Amino acid sequence: MTLSSVDAAKKRSAAYAHLRNCNLCPQLCGVNRYETTGMCLIGDKAKVNVIAPHFGEEPCIQGHNGSGSVFFSMCNLRCVFCQNHDIAHQRNGQDVTPEELGDWYLKLQDVGNVHNINLITPEHIVPQVVLSILHARDHGLSLPIIYNTSAYDSLASLELLDGLVDIYLPDFKVWEPVTSRRLLKADDYAATARKSIKAMQAQVGDLCFTADGIAKKGVLVRHLVMPGFEAEGARIMQFLAEDVSKDCFVNIMEQYRPDAYVGRSKKRAKQSHKNQHETEGEGEKRYSDINRAVSADEISVVRKAAETAGLWRFCDPAKHDGFNL
Ligand code: SF4
Repeated sequence: MTLSSVDAAKKRSAAYAHLRNCNLCPQLCGVNRYETTGMCLIGDKAKVNVIAPHFGEEPCIQGHNGSGSVFFSMCNLRCVFCQNHDIAHQRNGQDVTPEELGDWYLKLQDVGNVHNINLITPEHIVPQVVLSILHARDHGLSLPIIYNTSAYDSLASLELLDGLVDIYLPDFKVWEPVTSRRLLKADDYAATARKSIKAMQAQVGDLCFTADGIAKKGVLVRHLVMPGFEAEGARIMQFLAEDVSKDCFVNIMEQYRPDAYVGRSKKRAKQSHKNQHETEGEGEKRYSDINRAVSADEISVVRKAAETAGLWRFCDPAKHDGFNL
């Protein structure tokens, strides 16, 4: 981190100001988070679900010792298929101050010996994250910071993070507003993701590595291929190649599984004599079009579109028995 003490003080002051009138993410709630909560349901303290070395990330992120992951509770989106909904849709976990959070980063570094600090679903707690990073840097944190996001971020929050984040790890989920309205509950998701990923690229550039293959700085974009939405995945690849960088490092992920609200029984309102109550529908499932795994053909459509557009840096499994670092 190359921030001067003056710039660090300005960031601290901006972070506190945003907490008092929070319009920091695209939900634009305008609430004082010391007194109440907005759409994300998180006040002035971040809520943390899990803090641990994590071995479920890309090889260049988890390395040999794991990625020092901090899973934050809640989110500023409401994806119906959320693959992490027990954490992102529920207020489970422990409230922590920015200083306590920063102390955890130091423990992950000094005791866990991890390769980086991986902030997972942090879009709704950017002021707290900024304060925690500044605290940890002041007390000896030297690991790269990863901002692991849905890409539903505002330019104001990315400006606040500029100089503090080394690696941006954004998802780009879907392309069409009609799809994001139905599945993510946000009309403007793709437009926001396009702007925010371009801003991330402007800050840190293409992903680069240490000599032993651990990610050091840059942008790594993830796209989870969705069943029936491979054409949108192809459009996202074209955008990355044309508007971000042909050298963009991309992880085309195949592991979609129906989760959260997908495949749940529909509820039907049934009128009784005195009141109205809900009863389970018979055999009807919610979001039935995405109630299945993706096919090899769908994955191949997205991959071919990426290659045709000129992308070439993919997070592929190792072609040998060892690590693909
Ligand atoms: S971070 Fe939370 S309170 Fe602030 S604008 Fe977003 S959803 Fe609303």
